[in-house]
Amino acid sequence: MIERPIKLRRTSCFEHLRGQVALWVSLRSCGPVCLSRGEMRATGSWLWWRRKYFQLTVLKRSKSSIQAWPGANVSVGHDIASEATWADLLRENNGKGKEVTELWHFVDIDYDKPDLDKPCFGHPTLSDTDVASQKPVQDCVIDKIDQFENELKNPQTSAAEKLLALKFVLHFVGDIHQPLHAATRTDPDVQHEDFGGNCVGILHGAARDPERLHSYWDTTLVMAALGKDENQAAVSLMSLVTPDSNQQWSKGTPEEWAQESYRLAKSSAYAGVIDTAPVQTDFVFKEFGGGPDKRCGPSKVYRIDPSYNQQAIKVVKEQLAKAGVR
Ligand SMILES: [Zn+2]
Repeated sequence: MIERPIKLRRTSCFEHLRGQVALWVSLRSCGPVCLSRGEMRATGSWLWWRRKYFQLTVLKRSKSSIQAWPGANVSVGHDIASEATWADLLRENNGKGKEVTELWHFVDIDYDKPDLDKPCFGHPTLSDTDVASQKPVQDCVIDKIDQFENELKNPQTSAAEKLLALKFVLHFVGDIHQPLHAATRTDPDVQHEDFGGNCVGILHGAARDPERLHSYWDTTLVMAALGKDENQAAVSLMSLVTPDSNQQWSKGTPEEWAQESYRLAKSSAYAGVIDTAPVQTDFVFKEFGGGPDKRCGPSKVYRIDPSYNQQAIKVVKEQLAKAGVR
């Protein structure tokens, strides 16, 4: 098991809101994107729609959330948005769940050497008797989405495993669209990895307490972009889902989605931060328990320009809308 405590964070609203958008897209019978079944097939949306239908019906009927993962006492509501956060809760509230699944939420593509084999641990394969909800411990979010999608398509998969596959896919499709779940950078000055922006401090506006760049993108920007009312937020995001964007966004593979996030991490999350002069170079981040986050070491803190948020919020909204239709 690889200990990466700094990746443990409270459930972000990024995945929850992505689930909410997925729910709205599913429920919309005829809105700005009113596709016939023929059009859905032609655009590749048909399989997607069937999956959403499956999500709505199976999850609502399911009473197995609490014990869905062996020994896991993790309970969430049975709507898509709530279920979309289940995988984070499993990781945070269950020792075995953390041990097995904590590396599955991201793909740490190196800022300077964007090779996928290393952050995906050589792409381990599952044997015919393995179930994707239990292994391999070392794998990345790209491979896990592929594995769970394969289980959902396979008629031989047990109903219990399909339910787990669905819960993981719901969450991981959100994770893979958060740019800093697809990039990590080693500061050349001190040779410290930042673990997806977790060891980079930022100050925004009048703030005095540095915030991790990663959580800024997980939660703060999402709240700034869309407010606290998740229904209003979903409605606002749905305006981005036009027939054209729906057709364009419905394409692609998890690997392509991760590459897209990686590019956005460089162009919109890191840019405007690491290329400015730090205001502090020895900040010590704390873990949730209160002790120093030893992974980070002395960290740099940057004050971001107000214009940074304009570009970042645009990216956050579009990534959430894309993730909602994928
Ligand atoms: Zn996650």
